[in-house]
Amino acid sequence: MAFGLILCLAVSPSASFGKTFKKNTVLMGTDIELIASDADEAKVNAAFDAAIAEMARIENEMSEWKEESPVSLINRMAGREAVAVPDELLHVIVAGQTISELSGGAFDLSWAAMRGVWKFSKGFEKVPAPEEIKKTQPLINYREIQLDQPRKTVFLKKPGMAIGLGGSAKGDAVDKAMHARGNAGVKNAVIKAGRDMRIQGPEDGQPWPIGIRHPRDKNKLLGTLALANISLSTSGDYERFFIKDGILYHHIIDPKTGYPARGCQSVSILAPDTMTSDALSTAVFVLGPEKGMKLIQSLPGIEGIIVDAQGQVHYSPGIEKRSAVGK
Ligand code: ADP
Ligand code: MG
Repeated sequence: MAFGLILCLAVSPSASFGKTFKKNTVLMGTDIELIASDADEAKVNAAFDAAIAEMARIENEMSEWKEESPVSLINRMAGREAVAVPDELLHVIVAGQTISELSGGAFDLSWAAMRGVWKFSKGFEKVPAPEEIKKTQPLINYREIQLDQPRKTVFLKKPGMAIGLGGSAKGDAVDKAMHARGNAGVKNAVIKAGRDMRIQGPEDGQPWPIGIRHPRDKNKLLGTLALANISLSTSGDYERFFIKDGILYHHIIDPKTGYPARGCQSVSILAPDTMTSDALSTAVFVLGPEKGMKLIQSLPGIEGIIVDAQGQVHYSPGIEKRSAVGK
């Protein structure tokens, strides 16, 4: 688990919070954790069920691993024809394209041309031959993802291109799950999918204290942030990786080289919504500490913590205000 979610509602309770409830499950290939504070357990259970159903629905729509998903259809039709997609998927792809523009292509949904080239699954790890990278890397180019927004279609211009939403769809699923939770009438909650989380509330009482994991020591925290009504995502080189001949290879690919990005150990981003924090944490990770921090500082409402390749920690100026227990 990437985040130590330090819940101290027991330490700083607000009378109106009631009890704290928790539920864990697995979706989107990752650990899901739902936490809510409310007096009414039945209402919380209904909210949890609605949130989980919503994440399962989004997974079916946005997974590039599920044969029958609209994303898989877009990929199968690469170089052939435009595919009509549901509104929600179009929205995530449009948002991805915006982050690509903002990051100069560091974030690129079409990284997925590399999906079978690199293999990170346990027992199947593979470092591709340089020729294979050279051949595939030119297929990564977000400018060749053609969107027709009025017609709601997506077309990958070249055969062999593919898109993969692993860098932003979990965030979107968390946002939608949080919305479903709200409809069920539960106000104060945290929903976390792997390292993407939304902190909702507290409506009154102390902000939620959220610990951010040290990228090289899972028992150590970089710090704890006091958060309310905000999203937090972390991208790191320590979650999906393998080591071969002393070199660490991980799953965040620099579109310009076709190799794992080398500038950072981890990047945490605070943003107004989780799809944005998710995509930006991946983008900044690829950009590296200098360009990444510049991007963070250029965007209103965005804060970040970057641990660079040497283990040096860089904080954006606004993090200071959020720091609960020092940095
Ligand atoms: P995690 O999935 O562990 O939360 P990230 O949010 O950083 O971490 O997303 C990493 C995932 O994003 C990869 O597993 C892959 O699916 C996808 N990805 C890899 N490189 C890029 C990239 N340059 N741009 C966009 N998505 C990427
Ligand atoms: Mg991400």
